[in-house]
Amino acid sequence: MPELPEVETVRSGLAERMVGEVLESVEVRHPGVLEGCTARDLAGLAGSRVAAVERRAKYLLIRLGDGDRRSTLVVHLGMTGQLTWKAADEPTTDVFKRLVSGYRKSVGAHGVDSHTHLVAKSESGGSLLFRDPRRFGRVLLLGAVADESCPRLSRLGPDAWRADPAAMASILLARCGRRSVKAVLLDQTVLAGIGNIYADESCFAAKIRPDRILSGVSRARLAVLARSIDRVLDKGVRNAGTSFRDFVGSDGEEGSNQEDLFVYGRAGLPCRVCRTRLRVATVAQRTTVWCPRCQT
Ligand SMILES: [Zn+2]
Repeated sequence: MPELPEVETVRSGLAERMVGEVLESVEVRHPGVLEGCTARDLAGLAGSRVAAVERRAKYLLIRLGDGDRRSTLVVHLGMTGQLTWKAADEPTTDVFKRLVSGYRKSVGAHGVDSHTHLVAKSESGGSLLFRDPRRFGRVLLLGAVADESCPRLSRLGPDAWRADPAAMASILLARCGRRSVKAVLLDQTVLAGIGNIYADESCFAAKIRPDRILSGVSRARLAVLARSIDRVLDKGVRNAGTSFRDFVGSDGEEGSNQEDLFVYGRAGLPCRVCRTRLRVATVAQRTTVWCPRCQT
């Protein structure tokens, strides 16, 4: 599932390629992905100029138009969502390659197929494609109102990336209850943007067991955890995201962070630091991997 670094990778790519484009048409091919809006509402976006592409946690916010005609297209990539921009002269591809996870994916910009739910064309001949084979992704439309009027956005805690570490440690402690470190990291109302990959990697970087009850972790170790979260997310962004299965950036290219993981997806393999066999168990209802020697 795309987490903060993957969504940030899509955001920066779309911002570079889409800002300034004027939408000519917006076609919804599968209305099931829409939430609180209709295909007709989206068709009404024709003529709007893309002003900015922003991100809030795992949500992409495509800012359109200006003044009273301002609106925001909100996209959540769900499990397998891909949001790509194809310029007018860019060819599509049907070449497949094998990922480290064993999955095969196409290389480069994907053409429109049965999994493409939304196609927005621009006056310059470019197109924004939202493709999502498993259909857990969602598209919402906000009018000229504050983002907080959207319940999905208003309930999110502060963004987990580039937050002040001391403030982050305080937030974690204040909201932890009797829950495990992993459960608190996955709770989007506490800190927003972390999912299974970056929760496990952050715990490893901080040398903390993910199943440890957070209230029992010392203040000093929580400060280390907060700094580790930032570093791990930062590395994910620099590596253009983790492409374990479906994730691609806005140009259809995969990221490289999957080659740089310490624990996620490595159950049973030797720890990259101490060579101890990595352990796996279900923590906070998610498959969780940790090193029994490095993490206490
Ligand atoms: Zn180890």
